[in-house]
Amino acid sequence: MKCARCSGLMVTDHLLDMQESYVPMWMRGMRCVTCGNIEDPLIHHHRMIQHTRRTRRFTSHVAQPVLRPAQAA
Ligand SMILES: [Zn+2]
Repeated sequence: MKCARCSGLMVTDHLLDMQESYVPMWMRGMRCVTCGNIEDPLIHHHRMIQHTRRTRRFTSHVAQPVLRPAQAA
C-alpha cells in the first residue's frame, strides 16, 4: 500500500487512541515510513464516504454549468 500524501511505503502499526476513547484503546493502522502519515480504519472509512459523496455530486450535476464564486474587485 502507498501513502496518500507522498506515495511512500505504508506499514502496519499499532496505534494508541488516548483522546477519542474513554479508556486508552489500541487499534491497528497503517503508517508511512517516509512522512509518518497515519491511516486507521476510521480515517479510511471517512475518506471513502467523502469520495462517494463527491462522486454522486459530480454525476448528478454533470450536465449543469459550474458556478464560480464572485471574484473580489
Ligand atoms: Zn507518506
